[in-house]
Amino acid sequence: MEFFDFHHHKKNTGYGIYNVNIGEVPSDSLYSTGIHPKDIDVNNIEEQLSWVRNTISQNGFAIGECGLDSLVAIHQKIQEDVFWEQIKIANEVKKPVIIHCVRKFYEVISFKKKAEQAMIIHGFNKKQKIADDLLAHNFYLSFGKAVLYNLSLQNVLKNTPSDKFFLETDNEDFGIEELYLKVSQIKGISLEQLNEQILENLHTIKNG
Ligand SMILES: [Zn+2]
Repeated sequence: MEFFDFHHHKKNTGYGIYNVNIGEVPSDSLYSTGIHPKDIDVNNIEEQLSWVRNTISQNGFAIGECGLDSLVAIHQKIQEDVFWEQIKIANEVKKPVIIHCVRKFYEVISFKKKAEQAMIIHGFNKKQKIADDLLAHNFYLSFGKAVLYNLSLQNVLKNTPSDKFFLETDNEDFGIEELYLKVSQIKGISLEQLNEQILENLHTIKNG
């Protein structure tokens, strides 16, 4: 069985969504394209945004990863402007948005109202309260390696509706099968059922 990796950075490998590096020419595999807050070049924002428009229109699955990060040196207002521009692109091309968020969940939630497509918080590893607020606003959560050892996060995953999550390796060096196995135990469903559910969720976000 092949397990879908919702967000990864390993070019030309695996089955899932490859996150294209800024400025890179995407390959044929499924990919997401966007401007990570840390990659914002304040002197070239327009060029960066047109790169996003070009690459998404080729064969992109999603816009991202993009979002807000309180630990990145780029001014918050600029981060918000660049995030909003990418949400507008997603609205135009009708593609989901994969979100990178560090300590800015309430700001991200405020942008959700203006987004017409699905929004997925990638690498979710926060507390139940934040998960509840995000789910109440119709976000999807994508979980990664932390689920393997973080007991409170395992509980958050257990409480997350099955039609609202994805699984990913991001830039961590481990096999996605290990994560699927763990999650099938947490959810009390078979690997086949879990795999089917994730593919169904993928289909749902693709169609807005
Ligand atoms: Zn990533």
